[in-house]
Amino acid sequence: MGTPRDSTQAQAEVVVDRLEDEYPDSTISLRYSNRLELLIAVILSAQCTDERVNKETKHLFEKYDGPEDYATVDQDELAEDLNSITYYNSKAGYIRDSCATILEDHDGEVPDTMDELTELSGVGRKTANVVLQHGHDIVEGIVVDTHVQRLSRRLGLTEEEYPERIEEDLIEIVPEGSWQEFTHLCIDHGRAVCTAQNPDCGDCVLADVCPSEKGDGEIDLASGDPW
Ligand code: SF4
Repeated sequence: MGTPRDSTQAQAEVVVDRLEDEYPDSTISLRYSNRLELLIAVILSAQCTDERVNKETKHLFEKYDGPEDYATVDQDELAEDLNSITYYNSKAGYIRDSCATILEDHDGEVPDTMDELTELSGVGRKTANVVLQHGHDIVEGIVVDTHVQRLSRRLGLTEEEYPERIEEDLIEIVPEGSWQEFTHLCIDHGRAVCTAQNPDCGDCVLADVCPSEKGDGEIDLASGDPW
């Protein structure tokens, strides 16, 4: 078990510093070439790997070009074009409905406010934050996905369980200039080392400050259960 810094703020700073050194090129791994493609890729990535989404959007973005194409295609045809993605039927519906709203209410442009984005079908705060950050260069929150959720709890940055509450805690302690990067650093470390089932604490740059470290630690703070 590592010894966390005295305050959660200092703990967040050391986490960011160490992970920045470890993953200097950390960034979003979804592929897109415009805001609408970004929005669609993020909708598709819910409970699906980025790798799978990138594979499917390769042909999707060649076939469909702009919100009219998605809003007017038959639901079954779009669903069929997405059929390797989890919940592809629902997601096809979200994409069609969102594109119809984008055409009707936003002159065909992906909106640039949290309120307008979260009014789109299938778009919650997490998706909206990603689109704001990477599509509009507006950083007004921290994207909390499953890796951020797990690592923030393991590292003692929050005791909250739900993403929106975790985001509220993180906003208070992660330096504002690192809000966007923080998510990608957690994702990279969560994939490479601090995996859900079997984290490699012996090879972790955060081991000495991590209260969940498995050496002689007993509890995985992500779940609250013993290792
Ligand atoms: S790999 Fe282990 S030591 Fe590193 S952050 Fe995860 S739980 Fe903590």
